[in-house]
Amino acid sequence: MRPEILNPLFAPVSTLEGIGPKLEKTVTRLLHGNEQGEPARIGELLFHLPYQIIDRRARPGIANALDGAIVTLEVHVDRHQPAPRGNKRIPYRVHVHDETGDMALVFFHSRPEWISRALPIGETRFVSGRMEWFNGQPSMVHPDHVVTAEEFEELPLVEPVYPSTAGLSQRVLGKAIRAALAKLPDLAEWGDASLVERERWPSFEAALERVHNPRDMADLYPRSPARRRLAHDELLAGQLAIALLRDRMRRSHGNARTGDESRWSKVLGAFAFPLTASQEQAIAEIREDMAKPQRMLRLLQGDVGSGKTIVALAAMTSVVETGAQAAIMAPTEILAHQHLATLQPLCEAADMRLAILTGREKGATRETLLQALREGEIDILIGTHALFQAHVEFADLALAVIDEQHRFGVHQRLALGDKGGGSGGADILVMTATPIPRTLVLTYFGDMDVSRLTEKPAGRQPIRTTAMPLDRLEELIGRVGQAIERGDKIYWLCPLVEESEEVPLTAAQDRFNELASRFGDKVGLVHGRMRNAEKDAAMEAFRTGKTRILVATTVIEIGVDVPDATIMVIEHAERFGLAQLHQLRGRVGRGDKPSSCILLYRQPLGEVARARLSIMRDTEDGFRIAEEDLRLRGEGEVLGTRQSGAPGFALASPEFHADILEMANAEARMVVGSDSTLEGEKGLALRTLLYLFGQDSAIKLIRAG
Ligand code: ADP
Ligand code: MG
Repeated sequence: MRPEILNPLFAPVSTLEGIGPKLEKTVTRLLHGNEQGEPARIGELLFHLPYQIIDRRARPGIANALDGAIVTLEVHVDRHQPAPRGNKRIPYRVHVHDETGDMALVFFHSRPEWISRALPIGETRFVSGRMEWFNGQPSMVHPDHVVTAEEFEELPLVEPVYPSTAGLSQRVLGKAIRAALAKLPDLAEWGDASLVERERWPSFEAALERVHNPRDMADLYPRSPARRRLAHDELLAGQLAIALLRDRMRRSHGNARTGDESRWSKVLGAFAFPLTASQEQAIAEIREDMAKPQRMLRLLQGDVGSGKTIVALAAMTSVVETGAQAAIMAPTEILAHQHLATLQPLCEAADMRLAILTGREKGATRETLLQALREGEIDILIGTHALFQAHVEFADLALAVIDEQHRFGVHQRLALGDKGGGSGGADILVMTATPIPRTLVLTYFGDMDVSRLTEKPAGRQPIRTTAMPLDRLEELIGRVGQAIERGDKIYWLCPLVEESEEVPLTAAQDRFNELASRFGDKVGLVHGRMRNAEKDAAMEAFRTGKTRILVATTVIEIGVDVPDATIMVIEHAERFGLAQLHQLRGRVGRGDKPSSCILLYRQPLGEVARARLSIMRDTEDGFRIAEEDLRLRGEGEVLGTRQSGAPGFALASPEFHADILEMANAEARMVVGSDSTLEGEKGLALRTLLYLFGQDSAIKLIRAG
C-alpha cells in the first residue's frame, strides 16, 4: 500500500486549480508523450523541471541577444505584416526595434485581432521569449510575454521557463506547478545522513522548491546542490529497486538447460542468411548462461537492423529442445504481430508450436490459447504486456525474452521471469537497440551481463541521408513519384495525428490526404489512434506492396521490419531527438538495395536541431550517435532544448550525475545488505521513496524471501 502521505502527489493534475480536463490531456501529452492512458499526476508535474529562466534583471538589447537565449527586450513597434489571406503557412510578422537593432516578432496561426491589440504601432512594449538568428536576421517566434511598461513592473524579476507543448502556455504551466508545490508533503529523510551532510544537500522538498523558484541560472545547472539532491533521490530509488531484485534473484535458483541443437539446425536451414560472427558469439554466450544453474539475466544490445530477432530465436529454440517453453514480449501489438510473421516459417521448419497473445485475443480464442499454454502445447508464446497478467500460466516457462527493453521497467521483467516453472525463475534475455554506452548500462539495467551485436549483416548498403527544408516539399513529392514508378517502398513519418491550432505541424492525416490525391491507392496510413485491425491491414498492405508509401506517426518507431522499404522521409525532423531519428532511419537499409533518408525540417532551425541533423548526415554508427546525443543533451540543457524520447529519468542526467549514480549504487547495496526487508524507520522512508519514483513493485520482492 502506498503511504498515505504521498496521496496528494498521486492525484491527477486536473485536481489543481486552473487545470481542467482539456488541459489535463495537454499536460499528460507533455509528460507522457501521448494523451492515452492514465492522466499525469501532480508528482510528475513537480518532476518537470525548468531548463531556463527569464531573468528580467538583464536586458541585452536586440543586437546583443544570442541565438537560442531567452531574453527580455524593450521594443518599439514599427510595422505589422499580416499573413496573406488563405496561406496559413506564412506567419504574421510584427517588426520592432530598439536602440541596438531591428527584429521581427513571428506568429503562426494567431488571431490578428489579438496581435494588433497587444502590439499597437508606435508604442513601446516589453517582450520576452527565445531569440532565433537566421541568416543574420533576429526574430522571436511566439514571445512568451508581451506586456506594457506598467504590466512589466508587476512581473517577477526571475521566472522559470519549462519545456512545454502546443496548447500549454508558460503562464498556465508555471501556475500549475506552483499550485503543485503547495501540495508537497513533508517527507522523512531517506538519504544516508552522512552523505546528505557531507554534500550539504537540501531536503528533497527544499530542493524541489528551489529548482522551481530559481534565483539565477546556476540553480538549474545539473551540478547545483538542489539538482544533485534530486538526481540522487531518483537514482537511489532505481538502484534500490535493482538491488532488491538482485537480492531476490540470488536467492532463487534457475535451471541448467542445454539443447541438442536438433531443432536449431532446422531453423538455420530455413533462415535465408548465414549468421554474422557477432550473432554466433551472442548465441554462444547465451547458451553458456542457460547451461548454468543460476538464472540468466542478460542484455543483448544491437543497433537497429543488426539482427537480434534470430539470436532470440536461437535462445528460445534451445529451451524448446529441452522440452520447456519460451516467451517473447514486444512493446506494441504491431511488433508482436511482426514477430509472429517472421518467426512462423522458421518455427514451422523446426516443428515448434508458436502462438500469439495480445490484448486482442479475446473470448473463446483466448481461453483455448491459455489452456494450451498451461498444458504445454505451445512452445513459444509471442505477446505484449498482456503476458504479465496473472492468469497467463505456463506449463514450464524457462526463458523470457523482452524486446526493446526501455519501454518496460525492472519490475515487469521480473513479473515475467516469475512465471518460470520448475524450481526456479525463468532465464531472462533483454534486447535493446538503444546503444547505451557501457558506463550507463548500470543505470538502466543494473548488473546485467551484456552481449553485443557489433556488425551489421553482410550486404547492407549505406543509407544516404539528406536534410531538406519544407519549402522543397513539391520537389520531394516529385521524386517520391519517380521512386514509386521504380517500385520502391517509402515510409513517410509525421510527428502528430492532428494539426494543432498553434503549431504548424503537418499531421499524418493531412499528409496522407495530400499524397493520396497524387498517388491514389498506392498510399497507406497508420497511426496510434487507429483500431488494431486497421493498423494490421495498413502494415500488411505495405509489406505486400499493395501500398507503396506508408504515412505513419511514430507508431512504427521501433522494430518494424519491411526489408524492401528503401526510402524514409521524416517530416519535422527538427522535433525529434537524435536517438529517435536514428531508430526511425533504421527502418530502411535492411535489404541489399541502396536506401535513403530525407530529413524534412521547418525553418528556422535552432542550433541544437541543426547539429542533430548534421550528425545524422555524417554517420550511421549508433554508438557515435549515442555519444553525440549525450553531448548535445548536455548542451541542450543549457541551450534550452528538450529532446523527446530520452529514456529513463526525470530528474537525473546520467551524463552529469555519474558520480551520484555510483553513490546511489553503493548506498542501495548497503541498505539491502543490512535491512533487506526495509523495516526500520529508515526502511520506511525508503519505501516512500520507492513509491514516489514509481518503483513500488520492488516492494513486493521484499517479503517473498
Ligand atoms: P533488429 O536487431 O533491429 O531487431 P532484426 O532482427 O529485425 O533486427 O533483423 C533485421 C533484418 O535483418 C531482418 O530482415 C532479418 O531477417 C535480417 N537479418 C538478420 N540476420 C541476418 C544475417 N545474418 N544476414 C542477413 N540478414 C539478416
Ligand atoms: Mg527488433
